[in-house]
Amino acid sequence: MKISGTQIAYCVICPTKLWYFSRQIAMERSSDLVAIGKFIHENSYSREKKEIRIGRISIDFIKTKDGIELHEVKKSKKMEHAHVLQTRYYLHVLKQRGIAARAVIDYPTIRERVSVELDEAGELEVAEAIRKVELINALSQPPEPERKRYCPKCSYYELCWSE
Ligand code: SF4
Repeated sequence: MKISGTQIAYCVICPTKLWYFSRQIAMERSSDLVAIGKFIHENSYSREKKEIRIGRISIDFIKTKDGIELHEVKKSKKMEHAHVLQTRYYLHVLKQRGIAARAVIDYPTIRERVSVELDEAGELEVAEAIRKVELINALSQPPEPERKRYCPKCSYYELCWSE
């Protein structure tokens, strides 16, 4: 398992972002939005057990009452599809290790939760995402950036769009 959950999420958010991130071109620290996200991660659900690492995936926390329930904490629902795919990928990784689990995405700032399952369609979606990540990462140059509504908030903005 060479692919992280963040890479799976980035493959649907932006291939260019994925390519930079995979090469450890880390501009994330300079982004205020990322800092806010980290603050929410570090200060929400503080009583729960934190960050379970399995290979390259990092699960925010796991509850074990009535079976294994993994939790992913996110700031807002703007990228919900990417969050769901990332969480399905975690379920896929656990399933590959013989661990049956369910998952919940927590949005503490808006007090919402989204349940995530790994059905047959979800498995296909995860397989397609893994293939896409591998293809993008194999490129020798970053994919041409395409303008998106969230580009101005992206930490790679200057890399993509400065003259
Ligand atoms: S600025 Fe836009 S095109 Fe560039 S990496 Fe970020 S989201 Fe992708």
